[in-house]
Amino acid sequence: MYSIKEIFYTLQGEGAMAGRASVFCRFSGCNLWNGREKDRENAVCKFCDTDFVGTDGVNGGKYGAESLAEFIYNLWINSNPCTQNGKNSKMSGKPYVVLTGGEPLLQIDIALINQLHQYNFEIAIETNGTQPLVKGIDWVCVSPKFGSELVLNSGNEIKVIYPQGFSIEDMEYFSGLDFEHFFIQPKDEIINKTEVKSNIEQTINFCLTHTKWQLSIQTHKYLGIA
Ligand code: SF4
Repeated sequence: MYSIKEIFYTLQGEGAMAGRASVFCRFSGCNLWNGREKDRENAVCKFCDTDFVGTDGVNGGKYGAESLAEFIYNLWINSNPCTQNGKNSKMSGKPYVVLTGGEPLLQIDIALINQLHQYNFEIAIETNGTQPLVKGIDWVCVSPKFGSELVLNSGNEIKVIYPQGFSIEDMEYFSGLDFEHFFIQPKDEIINKTEVKSNIEQTINFCLTHTKWQLSIQTHKYLGIA
């Protein structure tokens, strides 16, 4: 059984797929922080902006591979009138699901990937890159975290949250990895909001001076969507 924090229909807010209608399936748990505020300071990853603890979010719970894929498909269908009864079907894109977390690769297996593909889903993942990939995932977004070991060195997009401690040598290393898109995204601040402006300025300056890298912003936060 998979432990799922929440499942919801929205627009992808970040990276190369920003703006695309998506079912977000958030897996519970992460290997770089336990999600408890009292332990944030001692965690490997200290700037997390996501609640991934437990199964108490919207549509959260325990699911098997079949029931999870079916739920995700029904949410897509019921949220998207273009897909119903063949009506306006030319207006409907391929079903798209983003497996996120927490760290989804702690739980995802081939059984779930196969089930989602049976519903014709294009499957994306957002991972911290510390776990081996499961085969068959269609779009891989890796967001390395300072102080952790990166084992996923290829994929569709790498998204570095900035700054978080990476040196210029680290950024050079990332620049040589096998990705199609190289994104750098200003770190939001959970505690000290006054640092956000500086993070944005540093990120813009990095893009202007290292032109392989593109700015990613968390458009969902600006738009006020989930
Ligand atoms: S790796 Fe991702 S999910 Fe885990 S604590 Fe960091 S930002 Fe949060």
